[in-house]
Amino acid sequence: MRTLSSLLPYVRRHAWAIVFGILFVFLANSLALTVPIIIGQTVNLIEEGRIHPDNLFHLAFLAVCVAGVAACFRFLMRRVIIDISREVEYEFRNDFFRKLQSLDPSFFDARNTGDLMSRATNDTDALRMLMGPGVMYTANTIFSLPIALTAMLWLDWRLTLVCMAPMLVLTPLVRYFGTRTHRMSRLQQDSFGELTTTVQENLAGIRVVKAYRQEDFELRKFLERNDDYIDKSLELARLQAMFFPSIRLLVGFGFTVLLLYGGHRIIQGHLEVGTLLSFLLLFGMIVWPLIAAGWVINLIQRGIASLERINAILESVPSVTEPEDGAAVVVEAGPPSIELRSLTFQYEGTLWPQLKDIDLHAPPGKTVGIVGPVGAGKSTLVNLLSRFYPVPRGMIFFGGKDINDWPLSELRRRISFVFQETFLFSDTIGWNIRFGSADNTPQDLVEEAAEIAQVHSDIGDLPRNYSTVLGERGVNLSGGQRQRVAIARALMRQADILVLDDTLSAVDTHTEEAILGELRRIMERKTTFLISHRLSTVATADEILVLDEGRIIQRGTHNELNAQPGWYSEMYSRQLSERAIEDYDEEGFAEDPAT
Ligand code: ADP
Repeated sequence: MRTLSSLLPYVRRHAWAIVFGILFVFLANSLALTVPIIIGQTVNLIEEGRIHPDNLFHLAFLAVCVAGVAACFRFLMRRVIIDISREVEYEFRNDFFRKLQSLDPSFFDARNTGDLMSRATNDTDALRMLMGPGVMYTANTIFSLPIALTAMLWLDWRLTLVCMAPMLVLTPLVRYFGTRTHRMSRLQQDSFGELTTTVQENLAGIRVVKAYRQEDFELRKFLERNDDYIDKSLELARLQAMFFPSIRLLVGFGFTVLLLYGGHRIIQGHLEVGTLLSFLLLFGMIVWPLIAAGWVINLIQRGIASLERINAILESVPSVTEPEDGAAVVVEAGPPSIELRSLTFQYEGTLWPQLKDIDLHAPPGKTVGIVGPVGAGKSTLVNLLSRFYPVPRGMIFFGGKDINDWPLSELRRRISFVFQETFLFSDTIGWNIRFGSADNTPQDLVEEAAEIAQVHSDIGDLPRNYSTVLGERGVNLSGGQRQRVAIARALMRQADILVLDDTLSAVDTHTEEAILGELRRIMERKTTFLISHRLSTVATADEILVLDEGRIIQRGTHNELNAQPGWYSEMYSRQLSERAIEDYDEEGFAEDPAT
């Protein structure tokens, strides 16, 4: 019931249409059910020889007119109710996507895309079936059964009781199938979610699969999941296949009993042929609502199962929220100073903190380099600046104010991020660079950003330059080019704070130097956080933090750190010798006389 109550706001929005839809169901059924009575009474009159040919024509005409009007109402009933179901599906899908947009990264860390996709598609579809055919056929059964039964009781109550007797088995039968169908359809939908996840991950990670030669393994995994899905689907189909014939069998019994007992009563002179005909026709008309009752139970069970899955997402609460009403501070324009005070942070569900006692003061214009081994907490640190995860109070201050008190959109507007993993949308390059900036941003600014990011000339080589449409995930650009497009996108936003999270890893050292050379001009006006595993990238930073297991183990300028023994100087000399070999590879071997 609680699950269904979540439909109330949607139902309320379409209340009038629903009332009309149900009224049309009622009118269509009441009219349609009078036709058998007209026909039956006409036959009785013919049998008794009490009818004039003109009257026969009038009665036939009346039956056709009534059936015609009933058909019109049936058309209106379908139009109205099916339209509502489509609109509710549309609204649910919008709300679902809106909710996804409002949730923060920690929500997505714990869920897989395929499952979310299946909720957005498969489950909203099941919901539509619940709101459309589900409501329509329920109303149909609710109205037509009592009307038909009343008419049948009025015609001959004995005959009614006799032909309805086999129908008593119907309720337990429907309940038995309903419960099993509910359970089975839930399992089937979960299985479909897993199948979608496999496909989605394989499409997204196709290069990894190929590089590690895991095609067979992934194919086997897919086949297993597809087998599981087909097993569940077949079991569901088997249940349904058993269900419908069982109902038809019951109906068949009803007809047989009706013919035997009705015939008997006619022979005894207690019943007229026309009345039995009305009976047979009426009984024939309630067969479908009875069968539909079973089908509708399936639809409703399925719809409720899907609604539960959709609600699980719609009811998720973002862990990062706007400051409470009135608590948001008024922030000053211009670059804020950034201060971290003993920042300690732990991801939900982990055993120990990923950041411990981090102190930092970064006035506007300062460049902070962050280095350290993999898993040291570098990305975590910069992610917290944008509040991608809940930040404990009293630990991060922008412009002297706790970032929890900053309006979230204002905070994020101030920060431009270039992530380690570049994501480009399947749109034009120009659109990708403009992403997040005003729509009317002049083309010169786009090109200027691309020039600083050293990707302008690469774009010039593409068939339609900035209007070149990128394939899914930007596959027609190299990794380095994609990273540079992402840098251009970040520069376009003209934010006060720039975060480059190991962004230059996919470009060669010479391009990196060119980018940094250009960026330096811009960085003078911004507070910049540069994460890199290449120490040369951060060498000119005003302060470098060396993180290890979430703690700052060294800090200072490049010269200071290089002059003291420790992780930094060791790593720097190792990277210097690697660079020397790289340079020799590039320049020396090309002219190697031995080759
Ligand atoms: P770095 O950027 O230095 O490589 P990260 O900041 O990505 O390191 O990760 C620091 C630690 O936090 C690692 O132990 C990592 O496993 C853990 N971690 C990163 N992201 C999450 C997350 N979303 N949930 C739980 N633990 C995480």
